[in-house]
Amino acid sequence: MTLPKSKNSLPVRKPSASASGGAKAKASSRKGRPRSLYTPAEVHEIFRRFSVQRPEPKGELDYVNPFTLLIAVVLSAQATDAGVNKATKALFSVADTPQKMLALGEAKVGDYIRTIGLWRNKAKNVIALSKALIDDHAGKVPEDRDELVELPGVGRKTANVVLNVAFGQHTMAVDTHIFRIGNRIGLAPGKTPEQVEQGLLKVIPAEYMRHAHHWLILHGRYVCKARKPDCPVCVIADICKSKEKTTDVSAPLVPIAPLKEAFPAEV
Ligand code: SF4
Repeated sequence: MTLPKSKNSLPVRKPSASASGGAKAKASSRKGRPRSLYTPAEVHEIFRRFSVQRPEPKGELDYVNPFTLLIAVVLSAQATDAGVNKATKALFSVADTPQKMLALGEAKVGDYIRTIGLWRNKAKNVIALSKALIDDHAGKVPEDRDELVELPGVGRKTANVVLNVAFGQHTMAVDTHIFRIGNRIGLAPGKTPEQVEQGLLKVIPAEYMRHAHHWLILHGRYVCKARKPDCPVCVIADICKSKEKTTDVSAPLVPIAPLKEAFPAEV
């Protein structure tokens, strides 16, 4: 385990032998979930830096209201955001409410989303979802996770995204990037997405919860990447306790361009 050497580093708690190795943290909380390797001050500093870097982070799925956000998230399973946006541009221009979507019908919805993986099943879900919203929720997207996960094609992750992005609730939708970061750097280690979710909800200060989901996804997508983390451009390199990191020197902390300008196409 390399400890930070930068003069500007925060005091870093040395992980115990059992907790060293990032993902292999073994020290467990009373609930059986491995503990975060970071002190509250370190977690605060990590998110303070993310907030300076991206004061108003945005997801990369296009939508115009909570309903279209819900549909876009459902369509994004095993698909890229760019691919979903390409298909939904035309779809949402003709159907931006459950009533219009239902009137469009499964076959036509399928025509719009044919370029997205698993489109047949997704078209079915979009129609069933629209019908359930009309029948059970007066055509409105519910602001409650238990109600959301009852809807066709909606799982816990989708529900958390909608609650956070559309309604500003302090939820944490753990996708592949957040799951990797939680374990790789030992911020919230866990064997399942739900364990990582609970760990993150516990350690992230409330003032940063509104945007934490986006900051972590963007950090994972563009910096702490799956195959090889790009540590030289990482603003938390001096705090990070991952065994995989390649530098202790953090990148300059400056606001960066909105992602659609900086990264025009996701691949
Ligand atoms: S220093 Fe490297 S491993 Fe640590 S968070 Fe940054 S990119 Fe990821």
